[in-house]
Amino acid sequence: MSSFQHLNEHLPDAAIRVSSPGRVNLLGEHVDYNQGIVLPAAIDRFVRLAAHPRSDRLVSIRALDFDGEVVFSLDGLEQRADIDGQPLPQWALYPAGVAWSLQAGGLPLSGMDAVYASDLPIGAGLSSSAAVELAFAVAWQAAADWQLERMQLAQACQFAENRYVGVGCGLMDQFACAHGVARHALLFDLRTLSWQPLPLPPETAIVIADSGVRRQLAASEYNQRRKECEQAVELLKQQLANIHSLRDVSREDFEMHQAMLPETTRKRARHVIEEIERVKQASFRLVEEDAVGFGRLMVEGHRSLRDLFEVSTPELDALVETAVEIEGCYGSRLTGAGFGGCTVSLVRRERAAEFSNELAAKYASRTGRAANVYVCQPSRGARVEGVETHSHG
Ligand code: ADP
Ligand code: MG
Repeated sequence: MSSFQHLNEHLPDAAIRVSSPGRVNLLGEHVDYNQGIVLPAAIDRFVRLAAHPRSDRLVSIRALDFDGEVVFSLDGLEQRADIDGQPLPQWALYPAGVAWSLQAGGLPLSGMDAVYASDLPIGAGLSSSAAVELAFAVAWQAAADWQLERMQLAQACQFAENRYVGVGCGLMDQFACAHGVARHALLFDLRTLSWQPLPLPPETAIVIADSGVRRQLAASEYNQRRKECEQAVELLKQQLANIHSLRDVSREDFEMHQAMLPETTRKRARHVIEEIERVKQASFRLVEEDAVGFGRLMVEGHRSLRDLFEVSTPELDALVETAVEIEGCYGSRLTGAGFGGCTVSLVRRERAAEFSNELAAKYASRTGRAANVYVCQPSRGARVEGVETHSHG
């Protein structure tokens, strides 16, 4: 596979090759940590990893995109340090965290030499972090004699990101990266962890546009939104004793009791409750191959993120407003946590290339910024591309 050639130069005798996709969320934003339902798809852009097991406890990794190399030991991972006692660089916390998490789950790991690179934009909201985590989890599994369910692999990776890297993400990213199905969106219920692939409407493509804006405050704003959702649950519990999360609040109950919430909290809760409903509607639209109806729900979702959840930016709004005016576009919305990052649009496949060019050009003239635009298809999840049986000493 040509995309591994670059890696082969650095690790010619790699026994294990893994590709691990990014993901885009088509609908259901800021609902994963409220036990809601989401509708992501893995995309055909990947972290590629080449590795071979070692007979000792050392892990030597090279991140070509960061021009970085570290060596750490599988013993004493909680130090977050390399073999010379130096703190691990941020990018190395992801693979080291996966090792830490798997070992914490009682799974024996082998030392490993690994090199990896990706064609995913990094830090743009397409989950390059989950792609890295799953790539390493799958590689360690391939080198070991245990096997986890995909959901357990995803959970181990989420645990690594939450507790080792220290990023409070929900399970959606790792789920999508682990479970991707070609040509399908993934309807995933965070309360039951059940999921179902639903085909994208025929003759459609996903177009992702990177606004080029990264907000410094994104992490603290994200934590703030999580708190506001928790606060809404605490307050609503006074009237609705049986709820554990906003997922448990029906629209009827919300309308009856919303007046008791402070204004900001009420807006946040309304977004989450209505967004979960939108995902249900959207799944019916997919079953009926109704791209128009699906697109309409995407636009409604964007408005809600802009006006109620308040996580959009002028640039994301400009991308969405521009996109929906272009011929062949069914719908468009910001995707990911917001505060910068990307939009996702559903477009007629035969129009995808022209749509992308037009979107980039109009965005540039409107904002003076360049948008990177990617036409994507839903892809399979993280997997081993090839394992050779010869061993390395
Ligand atoms: P994203 O939306 O892309 O997941 P995050 O901030 O969650 O953004 O994760 C980005 C981080 O993941 C990077 O800063 C880096 O530490 C790690 N990462 C992602 N892609 C790579 C890569 N190709 N090589 C090394 N580290 C990577
Ligand atoms: Mg991430």
